[in-house]
Amino acid sequence: MDIKITKTTNPKPLPDESKLGFGSIFTDHMFIMDHDDDGWHDPRIVPYGPIVLDPAASVFHYGGEIFEGLKAYRGTDGVVRLFRPDENGMRMKNSADRMGMPYVDPDDFVEAVKALVKVDERWVPHKKGNTLYVRPFLIATDPNLTLHGIHQEQFLIILSPSGSYFSEGLIAVKGAFETEDVRAVRGGTGFTKCGGNYGAANRAIMRSEAAGYPALIWLDGVERKYIEEVGGMNVMFKIDGKVYTPMLNGSILPGITRKSMIQVMKDWGVEVIEKRISVEELLGAAKEGRVEEVWGVGTAAVISPISSLTHEGVEYVFNNGEVGEFSKKLYDTLTGLQWGEIEDPYGWVVKL
Ligand SMILES: *Cc1c(COP(=O)(O)O)cnc(C)c1O
Repeated sequence: MDIKITKTTNPKPLPDESKLGFGSIFTDHMFIMDHDDDGWHDPRIVPYGPIVLDPAASVFHYGGEIFEGLKAYRGTDGVVRLFRPDENGMRMKNSADRMGMPYVDPDDFVEAVKALVKVDERWVPHKKGNTLYVRPFLIATDPNLTLHGIHQEQFLIILSPSGSYFSEGLIAVKGAFETEDVRAVRGGTGFTKCGGNYGAANRAIMRSEAAGYPALIWLDGVERKYIEEVGGMNVMFKIDGKVYTPMLNGSILPGITRKSMIQVMKDWGVEVIEKRISVEELLGAAKEGRVEEVWGVGTAAVISPISSLTHEGVEYVFNNGEVGEFSKKLYDTLTGLQWGEIEDPYGWVVKL
């Protein structure tokens, strides 16, 4: 790609690294590329700011939107690293395919991410745990209310310096099962990272948080019997020394953290079982005290330990409600790789 770079004449001051939060501060620049019947053209990095779209643009009416999420990490050696960006590029291609949207070549995706992070490299935080969150997204822009396919698109990347989820160490949160709303169904878009999945999830997530259960467990959309995910993360259970995680079935998002952790655990000699896990099976094991640890996994938090799950008014507590040693070890290993503190035997870490 021949990326045209127009730098801002008015760079912003860097934020206070101790007060970053998540996703509310944006850097000086953004990446944009346009698609029409001639294919992709005009890849460019421009000053960050509002974009102008026709009110008839398809994204506003028919939900043509997919996104990705990854991070840039500054190691103690000062080197900035990305974690498996090629996986994000491939997943975005798969998402686009399901949504009937022209896709961005995964190599161009990685090139664009790298180019933008390089331009805004001073924004990659220095404190371990803090990261530069990278949000690529693809929107359908055809200014047309007919349903004749998606031809015009914009691919954008924005960057947001973000604080660690766990600046005070890992914290376990309470969870509960969602028995009314479902996030996705097989044949639908559950395996894609599309905004629509989040639109469908908002109500349940808001209700669950208000009820004191930040970790909402999604069940399958057909029988409401099998566990799928927790909030916007994949979920794992340590039972009798083995690790169980719901198998990918079309309605579950294929997380890159999930995939990476499965590999790491297998290399530790841990038995990892990907299968359908019913609520009944999990709670049966919990009643017998066999569920050792429960945690969510995803790029944003890496690991989110779950202290208990409540079902029909009964609270099942895991590991005395404390963060488990195994979850902690997984967290330390993954973040160690991402910050370049642990030798990467996998070739996952990409230096800028
Ligand atoms: C992004 C996402 C995940 C986690 O995927 P990672 O690639 O590990 O960040 C899990 N579930 C949902 C619904 C997601 O959107």
